[in-house]
Amino acid sequence: MRSHLLNGLTAEHYRSSVTEGVERVAAKLATTDRPFTGVAVDALTPRVDAIDLDAPLGDTTAVLDELEDVYLKDAVYFHHPRYLAHLNCPVVIPAVLGEAVLSAVNSSLDTWDQSAGATLIERKLIDWTARRIGLGPAADGVFTSGGTQSNLQALLLAREEAKTDSVANLRIFASEVSHFSVQKSAKLLGLGQDAVVPVPVGHDKRLQTVALARELERCVQDGLVPMAVVATAGTTDFGSIDPLPEIAGLCAQYGVWLHVDAAYGCGLLASLKYRDRIAGIEHADSVTVDYHKSFFQPVSSSAVLVKDAATLRHATYHAEYLNPRRMTQERIPNQVDKSLQTTRRFDALKLWMTLRVMGADGIGQLFDEVCDLAAEGWQLLAADPRFDVVVAPSLSTLVFRYIPSAVTDPAETDRANLYARKALFASGDAVVAGTKVGGRHYLKFTLLNPETTTADIAAVLDLIAGHAEQYLGESLDRAS
Ligand SMILES: *Cc1c(COP(=O)(O)O)cnc(C)c1O
Repeated sequence: MRSHLLNGLTAEHYRSSVTEGVERVAAKLATTDRPFTGVAVDALTPRVDAIDLDAPLGDTTAVLDELEDVYLKDAVYFHHPRYLAHLNCPVVIPAVLGEAVLSAVNSSLDTWDQSAGATLIERKLIDWTARRIGLGPAADGVFTSGGTQSNLQALLLAREEAKTDSVANLRIFASEVSHFSVQKSAKLLGLGQDAVVPVPVGHDKRLQTVALARELERCVQDGLVPMAVVATAGTTDFGSIDPLPEIAGLCAQYGVWLHVDAAYGCGLLASLKYRDRIAGIEHADSVTVDYHKSFFQPVSSSAVLVKDAATLRHATYHAEYLNPRRMTQERIPNQVDKSLQTTRRFDALKLWMTLRVMGADGIGQLFDEVCDLAAEGWQLLAADPRFDVVVAPSLSTLVFRYIPSAVTDPAETDRANLYARKALFASGDAVVAGTKVGGRHYLKFTLLNPETTTADIAAVLDLIAGHAEQYLGESLDRAS
């Protein structure tokens, strides 16, 4: 069994084993002709159930064969140009190489004595990101597991900075289409049920600053304490970007913490063409960035940045065994002092490899391409009488629905769109997402693959229309 431990004696086993795995995936990538096989839960479950975890196969090749059957064959492949559903990106090769290196060396980023150079690399990437945002000389931050954790940590800092004797009085303002992790964070932070005040958005799905101003004023009038405003730079559903400069102005006026959730929109930090769309982000007290959404990084790779490094002390605890107080005096950089996590992956290495091989412009170009693709997709949809499209894209998302010409009942249109999404998924020809707009069912393309073409978009729209028509035809049959 010792032969399975990765060390100096087993380096050759490591090389052949990992290479074998890489060969499988490479073969898969080269031959995948659909984003999904359409496998049903009921078909896949027994295959997984049948495997006896207490009866190991011992041999890598046999295990990879088995994995083919329970996972690789039927996985959902984000690299396929007709995967258009959620905020998942195809990943860049330098980052995947970074992933292989970081898991083999297995540094842990909680303390210097478990990471050394890895800590310095992470810190340099935090500084790089903070500079791109424009947070100023006192900025800092830390890598996290994802936008959810970044939002939680940012709001923890905001709560600790808020001036109040009672957390029950604290209020967070976020647009009605902000990410649900804001509400989840409020709950985890022990705030009241009504702590998150939803602020209405306009037709463009951007927070209305007039409404925000009204809510802030009302909050103060009611003797409550505005704790934070969460501005979303790239909403999950629409890619819409809240008006950051105006929101920053209101935050300054009311002395409120401004958190910018740029989990999705952070790709613009590298953009060569559209950086101005997130102008104003530099006013934030904290920012969430998800490199695993718009920097083409494998999950997980995310960070929370703060304008004032000192605020990170609210996440600091000293453990004698790990990061005793004296280490701070000795200026030993222990990243655990800034993190909600203890043992923590060296995810930063993926971004490091990416920037060293491709440069920020390389990432920015890819993200610009998907933004341009979305603009072309918008033109297609706007010109197509079969579809209603919600809002012109600010990033790379399109929300639309099929409108049957002969149907007047909106509930029937809902059902046709729901059916089309499900049927498409079951066919495996393409994967699209869905959401609700004004209580009605819509479909969603999140375009993050520069390999997707307008021809792909047109073809998937035809498939959707075909499935919806089939549903309506059958529904007519049912009625007669
Ligand atoms: C995806 C997303 C999050 C959550 O990020 P995870 O990495 O999935 O935890 C938060 N906010 C926005 C706007 C997002 O799109």
